[in-house]
Amino acid sequence: MTTTFQNLGLSEACLEQLENLGFSQPTQIQQQAIPTLLEGKDVVGQSQTGTGKTAAFSLPMLEMVDTRDKSVQALILTPTRELAQQVAEAVKDFAFERRLYILTVCGGQSIERQIRSLQKGVQVVVGTPGRVIDLLERGDLRLDQLRLAVLDEADEMLSMGFIDDVKKILRQSSKERQTACFSATMPREIRDLIKNFLNSPVTVTVEQPKAAPTRIDQSVYMVPRGWQKIMALQPILEIEEPESAIIFVRTKRTASELTNKLQEAGHSVDEYHGNLSQVQRERLVRRFREGKIRMIVATDIAARGLDVENLSHVINYDLPDNTETFIHRIGRTGRAGKTGTAIALVQPVDRRMLRQIERRLRQRLEVCKIPNRAQVEAKRIAKLQTRVKETLAGERMASFLPLVNELSAEYDPQAIAAAALQMVYDRDCPQWLKTDWDAPSGNVPKPVIKRKYNRNSGKDNYRNSKSVTRNGSQGKIMKSEVGISEQ
Ligand code: ADP
Ligand code: MG
Repeated sequence: MTTTFQNLGLSEACLEQLENLGFSQPTQIQQQAIPTLLEGKDVVGQSQTGTGKTAAFSLPMLEMVDTRDKSVQALILTPTRELAQQVAEAVKDFAFERRLYILTVCGGQSIERQIRSLQKGVQVVVGTPGRVIDLLERGDLRLDQLRLAVLDEADEMLSMGFIDDVKKILRQSSKERQTACFSATMPREIRDLIKNFLNSPVTVTVEQPKAAPTRIDQSVYMVPRGWQKIMALQPILEIEEPESAIIFVRTKRTASELTNKLQEAGHSVDEYHGNLSQVQRERLVRRFREGKIRMIVATDIAARGLDVENLSHVINYDLPDNTETFIHRIGRTGRAGKTGTAIALVQPVDRRMLRQIERRLRQRLEVCKIPNRAQVEAKRIAKLQTRVKETLAGERMASFLPLVNELSAEYDPQAIAAAALQMVYDRDCPQWLKTDWDAPSGNVPKPVIKRKYNRNSGKDNYRNSKSVTRNGSQGKIMKSEVGISEQ
């Protein structure tokens, strides 16, 4: 039997909101934690990132909050400011009551503003332990009416040295409250805290599916100054040839613009955003699953309801504003023992975020050069060669032999073949490649170019055949000068 959100005990208003968000089925941790919290019990949740913990505690929390009461009724503690903001955003998305007041309290932001908001009345506080303590000690935050305290990523709060602050906060909050503690791991200090501060908690554990070890190849491309990201993406797509990909962007507008440009360049791609009807969304997902569309351009919000994984590529066209979202995005590739590729386009302003991501991944990300013209052209030629071989293996080509015979009366068979190839190459060549485009030179791996040495005029010929020869802006290629070798 599949569990639905309907049989977890949530209100109609909440179910409606979930449908709007495109959440069709509760995750495992949601199936277990939601009814338990709604029954009034404390919960200990152990599961990895990306298992849907935020909704697991936010939905029952929203059911508990009395919007007529302006005192703080729910507190969510998180280890970092980014996470607090992310959780607060998620709670706002889930909120089905319009009169809900929620406040994020973190260091690095004006405490006066936070105090003013608290004075006006706030029902849900999301914050980091340090700032919460500050506000408690000043007497601006009172937790005596608290109904629910949530410790999100408790083990991270421990490793960041916040555990004593967390205990202090719990000591100062209402004894009538429920408490939920979520942690990926359960070190001794966390188990002690649970013993001392939670009341006969129900433990919910989500086993990670035991898939074979997977690998995600990560590449970061630095977009050169003065370039638009689209110019960088095109050659990357040529080289990578994703079988199935989601391209993540920040805004709906970028999603539409990028989709248009990629479609113009002949890519099989569509956009996915909140304005699509349920029917349109389902249709898009179906076409994607069937392989009729290769790529989807989506915003994070829209992608939440997008039930596709096992992608060959995840492309971060825009970086998200927090590391968790990044982890969640790239988790859609490299599933079930397969290798996946995660690509990020970054600009100099993204350096800080990139470093945060590296810290979170505990991995250095290799910064690659944008593939240059010669690489893109060599790849296209290699593909052309494969297609020619496939056609040679077929039978239909026999019907063109009379035409070749006829032309042979006047032209050399090699020239005829070359002309036919040029026609195919030009026809498939996207507009952007026909312009004088090239990536800035640098120490990028060059495609292997075979030199055709001409004894008579060696020097000149060498100069001409160093790279693919272009004819004006048409991007024509002389086959004899390019050695095709898979990199
Ligand atoms: P965790 O806190 O366990 O790391 P999150 O709560 O941040 O995970 O959820 C990860 C992602 O999954 C978010 O983008 C969230 O919107 C999405 N998500 C969570 N639950 C569901 C669901 N039932 N259906 C669809 N998407 C979901
Ligand atoms: Mg989380």
